[in-house]
Amino acid sequence: MTDLVTLTPEGLYCPQGGFHIDPWRPVACALITHAHADHARRGSREYHAARSGVGLLRRRLGPEAGICGHGFGEPLAFGDATVSFHPAGHVLGSAQIRIEVGGEVWVISGDYKRDPDPSCETFEVVPCDAFVTEATFALPIYRWDPIDQVMGALLGWWDANAAVGRASVLFCYALGKAQRVLAEVGRRTDRPVFVHGAIDALLDAYRCEGIALAPTAPVGARIKGESFAGELVIAPPSAFGSPWMRRFGDASTGFASGWMRVRGNRRWRGFDRGFVLSDHVDWPRLLQTIEATGARRVLPTHGYADALARYLRDVGVAAEPLETQFDGEAEDVE
Ligand SMILES: [Zn+2]
Ligand SMILES: [Zn+2]
Repeated sequence: MTDLVTLTPEGLYCPQGGFHIDPWRPVACALITHAHADHARRGSREYHAARSGVGLLRRRLGPEAGICGHGFGEPLAFGDATVSFHPAGHVLGSAQIRIEVGGEVWVISGDYKRDPDPSCETFEVVPCDAFVTEATFALPIYRWDPIDQVMGALLGWWDANAAVGRASVLFCYALGKAQRVLAEVGRRTDRPVFVHGAIDALLDAYRCEGIALAPTAPVGARIKGESFAGELVIAPPSAFGSPWMRRFGDASTGFASGWMRVRGNRRWRGFDRGFVLSDHVDWPRLLQTIEATGARRVLPTHGYADALARYLRDVGVAAEPLETQFDGEAEDVE
């Protein structure tokens, strides 16, 4: 089997197509799976991505970046390779990248999940010979609860706090998780949600793509001194414990992340409540997905790549980890 993707100092590279995927250093031609900071870095000459993610990428890469948006499934010629983007179900516009050269097919998953998410396109299984898969939560302890259960707990927390006149401040990753929560809240109640400025700045990119979110108002738009009692506020984890929090008085704090699966996790401490909600694939669905692709060779990356490769080899699948610089942990924290 010819390698269609190799590791270079700049990042993952397809020699037949002459492009990099999510490079961590500037290159001539970068194909981007999604707009999270560890995958979309500034300075490359030319970027290609799924069209629905271009608005988010533009914010990340700056107004000068040359970004070409492509429809899902549209075949594109790069050198000797035929390339197409396919939905990854991670955040709006997130894509798996399919590369075909002389009948051989590789798929680079980027980050992905299999759970339903009204704020982005649904993951598509793309049959391939080799599958480069993320492994952020690739341990058997990581299993996600149904979304109705998670949202039920979250809305119950909000109601209980409102009943005693407290604000509920939910911390979660500003790109993806916040919009997923807003989309799920909007399906269950008409109540408006207050958002931190870092989250507010990303909402247009979603609404412009037709994603329905709960009605929102920026926290900063409220008259100084006016109470947030009974309100739900969504903020990035970086705001936790900052002076920005003072305006909410005696608020209850929550954190929505896959890391909340592990009680006593260092990320749990300090928050009143943890909600297990991840935009990455969990263990059972990771194994299901690998099987569904029919890949004869699997290259895990991110997080528990070594553990996953070992597990796969034990069950007879050819697997070796790929040492990339993607940082799945940081994604849930920023
Ligand atoms: Zn990501
Ligand atoms: Zn990532």
